[in-house]
Amino acid sequence: MVMVRQLRWEAAGVVSVLLARPDGSPLPPWRPGAHVELLMPTGIVRQYSLCGSPDDLSAYRVAVRHLPASRGGSEYVHSFLRPGQPLRIRGPRDNFGFEPAESYLFLAGGIGITPILPMVRHAIDSGAKWELHYGGQNAVSMAFRDELAPHRDSVRLYPADRAGHIPLADLLNETAPGTVVYACGPEPMLDAVTDNGAHLPRGTVRMERFRPRTKAPMPNAPVEVVCKRSGRTVEVPAERSVLDALGDAGLPVRSSCREGVCGTCETRVLEGEPEHRDDILSEEEREKGDRMFICVSRARTPQLVLDI
Ligand SMILES: Cc1cc2nc3c(=O)[nH]c(=O)nc-3n(C[C@H](O)[C@H](O)[C@H](O)COP(=O)(O)OP(=O)(O)OC[C@H]3O[C@@H](n4cnc5c(N)ncnc54)[C@H](O)[C@@H]3O)c2cc1C
Repeated sequence: MVMVRQLRWEAAGVVSVLLARPDGSPLPPWRPGAHVELLMPTGIVRQYSLCGSPDDLSAYRVAVRHLPASRGGSEYVHSFLRPGQPLRIRGPRDNFGFEPAESYLFLAGGIGITPILPMVRHAIDSGAKWELHYGGQNAVSMAFRDELAPHRDSVRLYPADRAGHIPLADLLNETAPGTVVYACGPEPMLDAVTDNGAHLPRGTVRMERFRPRTKAPMPNAPVEVVCKRSGRTVEVPAERSVLDALGDAGLPVRSSCREGVCGTCETRVLEGEPEHRDDILSEEEREKGDRMFICVSRARTPQLVLDI
């Protein structure tokens, strides 16, 4: 249990929230790119990237954009969360996989600045070469511009109403060998990063999606799942997810987003070939086939053996 220590207006539609333990004891460590889950008292669970400093474990900072069509996550934070309120959180969890490098190209769109901000700080502290290109609808909606202002030489802002979009094609074409690209933002931006970065060596472009990609529905086949640790075998019918079928059978599964973006249901694959439908794993990680997100992913083989 943590307590809301502070709520702060950061930009139009964006508030930051400082979360600390009531007794002031340190929170668990985290790496740039990690997120926590906020368990709203309404029962809704949502993920938010940590955007403070990993060196300060006295509090976690998250920043939340208010979505007009909210089913409750950002709406709760903006309309009901108050300083002093106790709140349950889970994590931190790290799906982004930030790794120290000598040169970085950071690309952020809108609220996608949140996981990028601690990466930028790491780059500054480590003396690495870095550039941040940060786009948003307009300047007033772009959070943390004040924190980035001292680094004018390395930061380019693109409020779309005045400066247009980030020139992704140019930037990715000019990316020097050895530079690692970290990107987070809305779907069209990340799709453009994928397309324009396709020529770069594998592993160069890493991104995090806050919501699942728009995908055409895929046909489902039934699969037999052997749960090695539990000594149980479960038949997963075509119309049920692996997660739901295992949960129905009373097996110990954990989940949160159920959309393949948060990573909570990550499961080790011992045998068989998963058919990955998540928006977390990179191509390399997919090919390894040693883990899968059972809320959305299925199987290419009639049987999977999982570490459950
Ligand atoms: C790993 C991870 C980290 C995240 N970090 C942050 C963060 O730092 N700050 C933050 O504000 N959010 C972040 N999110 C998104 C957040 O978890 C919620 O999805 C978001 O707050 C919307 O929740 P909601 O209940 O208000 O809206 P929902 O009811 O879930 O969504 C309302 C509508 O908006 C759409 N929608 C959902 N998310 C977005 C989006 N980002 N942009 C446009 N439309 C959207 C939905 O498809 C739906 O139609 C993160 C998500 C993940 C998976």
